[in-house]
Amino acid sequence: MSFLDFGLSEEIIHGVQSMGYVDPSPIQLRAFPVVLSGRDLIASAQTGTGKTAAFGLPILTKLAKHKAGGKPRCLVLEPTRELAAQVETAFRDFSRFSDLTVGLMYGGVGYGKQREDLKAGVDSLVATPGRLLDHLEQGSVDLSGIEILVLDEVDRMLDMGFLPQVRRIVEQCNKNRQTLFFSATIPPELQGLTQWVVRDPAIIEIGRTHSPAETITHALYPVARDQKFDLLLALLEKTDYSSVLIFCRTKVGADQIAAKLKSNKHSVVALHSNRTQNERMDALEGFKSGKYEVMVATDIAARGIDVAGVSHVINFDVPQHPEDYVHRIGRTGRAQNVGDAFTIFTGEDLEHVVKIEYFIGTKIARQKLEGFNYLYCALFASEVPGSAPKPVRRKTPASRRR
Ligand code: AMP
Repeated sequence: MSFLDFGLSEEIIHGVQSMGYVDPSPIQLRAFPVVLSGRDLIASAQTGTGKTAAFGLPILTKLAKHKAGGKPRCLVLEPTRELAAQVETAFRDFSRFSDLTVGLMYGGVGYGKQREDLKAGVDSLVATPGRLLDHLEQGSVDLSGIEILVLDEVDRMLDMGFLPQVRRIVEQCNKNRQTLFFSATIPPELQGLTQWVVRDPAIIEIGRTHSPAETITHALYPVARDQKFDLLLALLEKTDYSSVLIFCRTKVGADQIAAKLKSNKHSVVALHSNRTQNERMDALEGFKSGKYEVMVATDIAARGIDVAGVSHVINFDVPQHPEDYVHRIGRTGRAQNVGDAFTIFTGEDLEHVVKIEYFIGTKIARQKLEGFNYLYCALFASEVPGSAPKPVRRKTPASRRR
């Protein structure tokens, strides 16, 4: 089936085709009819499956034409500023051949432009919960005209402690709305919210929510704790990457790794929530444009971020929650592109590694980096008996960036 077979509007199909999408992805095939029919939806899908278009295209089709000076008719709530900005950009791109407008509201920046946009009237509003509540309290936004509400990445909103704020926002939305609920997993803590927020929903589950995209090659690199950074440097040196996203557990750790990589002549930037909004935007834009080949990030800042052509994800620290492993490595191999995910681990991380392997349902290959001067590491004795070194490609200049 093609984009033409669902009753999506011509302008929106034109928009999506001009972005180079040829065929709908599986979640899109299943979500389009549900969203267009007006039914509520609970959807779980792996990251990078195309869920933004799965809800965006039918929503924009339904909104059809801009209403000048009107109240917002669609609200999309996102857990992080980066995700909100990404979804807003996607909505703009999808609707570029229509006159529909979209507004973006998140914290860390001034209120002026956001208030002006609201006053002029935006058809869709993409927001993070905190800033939207500020606008509600100040009376600069009215959600009584919301026809379609999208709660995106709800499990992450739960992790970040946003559920009370989400509930307060939902209470202010029109009761006769359509609600679309997207979450990678639906843990028991979310059951109450789902029952309250959606009515008679269609359920869509795409693939096993636990399994990372099949286009990603994984490898574990055991090493002694003191050699973690040296191994990271050696991996970068020996790998033919176009852009690398490195994950650290803490913000301080991310800053330290970025500084050390910089002093080793890497073009690198850090992304985490202690940086100002301008710094975060510069980091993301710079990484997307190729100004920085390497970005060092924490989980929250990087969740769901869509950067075309991330060729490698390196976990400098093993994630403590197995689902974060799937989200982290989901930053590469997106939309059927291939990608590599390396995880550096020490003896102390073994317990987390085992949990990750259990969660994703497969064992990850242990690798030894050829030519690296390993100190003794107990893991080699038991974990990597004679493991053949993986042939890593020599680094060439950033030539493969799309
Ligand atoms: P998402 O899961 O919405 O973050 O999308 C992941 C990536 O897939 C983004 O780069 C989208 O632009 C891309 N994408 C989504 N749907 C399609 C499609 N039908 N064809 C090609 N690329 C797509």
